[in-house]
Amino acid sequence: MTEFDCAAFRRHFPALNNDWVYLDSAATALKPNAVIDATDAFYRHGTGNVHRGQYPGAISLTARYEQARIDTAVWINAPAAAIVWTRGTTEAINLVAQSYARPRLRPGDEILVSEAEHHANLVPWLMAAQQTGARVIRWPLGDDLLPDLAQLERLMNGNTRIVALTQMSNVTGGCPDLAAVIARIRRYPQAAIMLDGAQGAVHRPMDVQDADIDFYAFSGHKLYGPTGIGVLYGKPALLEQMPPWQGGGKMLTGAGFDGFLPQAVPMRFEAGTPNIAGVLGLSAALDWLRTQDLGAAERYSAGLARLAAERLSALPGFRAFHAPGSSLLSFIFSGIHHQDIAMILAQDGISLRAGQHCAQPLMAALGVSGTLRASFAPYNTRQDVDRLVAAVEKALSLLRD
Ligand code: PMP
Repeated sequence: MTEFDCAAFRRHFPALNNDWVYLDSAATALKPNAVIDATDAFYRHGTGNVHRGQYPGAISLTARYEQARIDTAVWINAPAAAIVWTRGTTEAINLVAQSYARPRLRPGDEILVSEAEHHANLVPWLMAAQQTGARVIRWPLGDDLLPDLAQLERLMNGNTRIVALTQMSNVTGGCPDLAAVIARIRRYPQAAIMLDGAQGAVHRPMDVQDADIDFYAFSGHKLYGPTGIGVLYGKPALLEQMPPWQGGGKMLTGAGFDGFLPQAVPMRFEAGTPNIAGVLGLSAALDWLRTQDLGAAERYSAGLARLAAERLSALPGFRAFHAPGSSLLSFIFSGIHHQDIAMILAQDGISLRAGQHCAQPLMAALGVSGTLRASFAPYNTRQDVDRLVAAVEKALSLLRD
């Protein structure tokens, strides 16, 4: 097992050159120089649009943009044509809800949504249900705070069309046993899985073909890439059946007043000028990640979360929501509002998130109004844990007086 070199990792991140302790990487990761340089180079030297110009600048830009699609496909072991660029996970799931599910759903159909979902993998299904008369069904958690497999077996039936599941909870860091979930879903050929990889993509390598995933979504900005760029992977056979969901330039092969002919997959889903800088920046992020020891980085950041949990658990009233081995640590202190603590932490230079984490059903299942969430990344240090614990101790003494 290699020792992780945090100091070397940190040197890639100019945003760390200040006195703040950044513990909010689950909201968005900081950006390494490789990503900043790639987007800077595009804006500084790039000329033209993609898929639209006949001059050399536009042609080479299009080639780089399509190479980025191939590189991103390799990252999750997908064919390049199965990679659709989106604004992020949210847009990718909405695309599936509107283009795959909506035309198929009928009154009486069921969409199973786990209780661990971010609103991004719940609300698009509520909208599709409203539009079609289908029903969204709650898939409850077990004692381990993961979507319960026995409940999945009980809830699935011939009417189940979609199962919406997160690869990793953005609150507990818990990762369901995907192979076991998929095996149960495959007993019902009409059901497809929408796997939300927003948190999981950076922590768990994904092979969409090996895992037999129907739809997988992730966001560039949680993978050290730019904001405003994300990926939808869909099984080619499913994408082929899906109509475009937004109309405009480059998603068609011909248009007139009597109609239009959609492009092939994936261009059919990419109307309008795309986020070129985002695509190039995400591709740079993946190239850079390939040069890092991600296994060691993961063990290191999970170790920091475990250390923080151990140290905070010595303080009275502490309660953690923390899957073993995860780099996310959600926690509360009984009798004290999480926002009050977060305000004092902010005054002490700690950046973390407090609230419901866009996961109100999960908050209800946990029986809390919100939590603090410290999310550790490989650029965090033991000193960051010390600063967090000291700031929490100070907050508790101020708020308990
Ligand atoms: N799902 C999960 C589990 C998330 O953590 C997030 C981001 N907080 C999203 C979906 C949505 O991602 P984005 O805002 O990048 O579309």
